[in-house]
Amino acid sequence: MDYNRLLENIYQAILPYAQEGKQASYIPELAKVNPDQFGMCIHTIYGEVAAIEQADTRFSIQSISKVFALAMCLSIKGDDLWTKVGKEPSGTAFNSLVQLEVEHGIPRNPFINAGAIVIADLLLTHLENPEADFLRFVREVSCNDSIDYNKEVALSERKEGYLNAAIVNLLKYHGTIENDIEDVLHFYFMMCSIEMSCRELSQAFLVFANHRRRFDYAGITLTSSQVKRINAIMQTCGFYDEAGEFAYLVGLPGKSGVGGGIVAIYPLQYSVAVWCPRLNSKGNSVMGIKALELLTTETQSSIF
Ligand code: GLN
Repeated sequence: MDYNRLLENIYQAILPYAQEGKQASYIPELAKVNPDQFGMCIHTIYGEVAAIEQADTRFSIQSISKVFALAMCLSIKGDDLWTKVGKEPSGTAFNSLVQLEVEHGIPRNPFINAGAIVIADLLLTHLENPEADFLRFVREVSCNDSIDYNKEVALSERKEGYLNAAIVNLLKYHGTIENDIEDVLHFYFMMCSIEMSCRELSQAFLVFANHRRRFDYAGITLTSSQVKRINAIMQTCGFYDEAGEFAYLVGLPGKSGVGGGIVAIYPLQYSVAVWCPRLNSKGNSVMGIKALELLTTETQSSIF
């Protein structure tokens, strides 16, 4: 398969959508990002790599970091984790408070903000140096020591992060989290602020695509069954209230972020990352979804 040519063709085909949507503005630093950028990169488990356009430009991975956080937490807590957070799709926005109140402070899943904030709290409790340990893990799965947080983005999100502050308060009220709410929010925003390129993200997610390979990075170990289950949660919960639509259009487990990145995996075949900051009303990249829809259609490689 000539993946470079395929990605180029996909890019040409989706150009008519290049002006649809706009970048996230509720995080002031993200509003400054040039919305007219696009990158895409695919890594197969056999070592093939193809990358087009701005595949090497770093962007804010935002909620994609929730997959790394879940991997760490599942390794540390095992199935005990599921007493504090569920694994059902929410069908609501990533920052919604509605179910959290009705369901007494137990978030639906680890990929909505409320669930990821619970994961951040658990990591704060169990890691010796949470920020350094998280970064070390992400660097190891990515085979790349230059990956880092962007403090300006994290602080800018904290300044305007009223909804996440409401979520953390509700969680604390219900006794779901242990640590100081400011510490939990700070760590959560730091994880979201990590910057990676499409090439780096698709390289990193090979560890989820290739779930039969031993998972052991920076002291974080998972069985192949646990990795498979993380993939299942990506499939059902990776796109919030657009998870059904993504399954319908693309048919792969994946995770999006409001920085405009999407990463998806085809188990035992490939990992792919795509980025364009312009988002639809659900907070998912317009061009990203279009590109992945074409990729799985052209290659007939959806898991369905
Ligand atoms: N940091 C963002 C927030 O909490 C992450 C949301 C996202 O990427 N969907 O709102």
